[in-house]
Amino acid sequence: MAPQDDKHTPPPLPEPLRVPVADSHTHLDMQAGTVDEALAKAASVGVATVVQVGCDLAGSRWAADTAAAYDSVHATVALHPNEAPRIVLGDPDGWSRQGARQPGGDAALDEALAEIDRLAALPQVRGVGETGLDYFRTGPDGMAAQERSFRAHIEIAKRHGKALVIHDREAHEDVLRILREEGAPDRTVFHCYSGDAEMAEVCAAAGYFMSFAGNVTFKNAQPLRDALAVAPPGLVLVETDAPFLTPAPYRGRANAPYLVPVTLRAMAEVKGMTEDALATAVAANTARAFGY
Ligand SMILES: [Zn+2]
Ligand SMILES: [Zn+2]
Repeated sequence: MAPQDDKHTPPPLPEPLRVPVADSHTHLDMQAGTVDEALAKAASVGVATVVQVGCDLAGSRWAADTAAAYDSVHATVALHPNEAPRIVLGDPDGWSRQGARQPGGDAALDEALAEIDRLAALPQVRGVGETGLDYFRTGPDGMAAQERSFRAHIEIAKRHGKALVIHDREAHEDVLRILREEGAPDRTVFHCYSGDAEMAEVCAAAGYFMSFAGNVTFKNAQPLRDALAVAPPGLVLVETDAPFLTPAPYRGRANAPYLVPVTLRAMAEVKGMTEDALATAVAANTARAFGY
């Protein structure tokens, strides 16, 4: 294998987009290098804006601070669906950045939600999320905390008039049901959209944005491409979810916002649109979704 194919070598810069777009969902705080480097590299290939997503209290504060410091960064704040059960039930392994902790019960969750509520009021915070349900990582014992946290985030997003960013992993029906029960905010984004074409029709009818990540390029992801094919161009976004979900042919290497063009080009092919036409639509959709 040539040295440039090594897993630890960053993928090369793609050909720049002619129409600039946003990375609608990234985690700069989990990526190598500085924020300045990541933004400069992204801007050099036409990824002019990024939405920095918070997953816990420390990460949400960091997202808000970073968005305050950089015009090209917008923030969202939340307790991730896998974070809420850790706050309530404890986390002996200390997986999260707050480290190992004792069970805090519902009172600790309420306290953390109050801080998310305060951060959500800030002008540079454009969304509340990622929140939702994750039945892949959270077992039955954590589901009550996860659902309570999801419902609270929906209420916070609506009260502040911010976008809602949904994380839905193997929980499609319950996520859609809870959105119906609570009443979804005006702007709701399914990040790393993972439903099929049938669910895309449901999301389209409800006016939910569908944000596609690098996994749409994976060989085994035909159901995802079928969903993208039927998603209205006015509701489609692109994201990296970096450092995760690096698009093909760079799967297994670290993802970063500068790789958005790779995914966008694959998406244009699926939709039978030119790269410029899809980029124009995606840029407008992202600005509308996050109100910037
Ligand atoms: Zn997620
Ligand atoms: Zn994420």
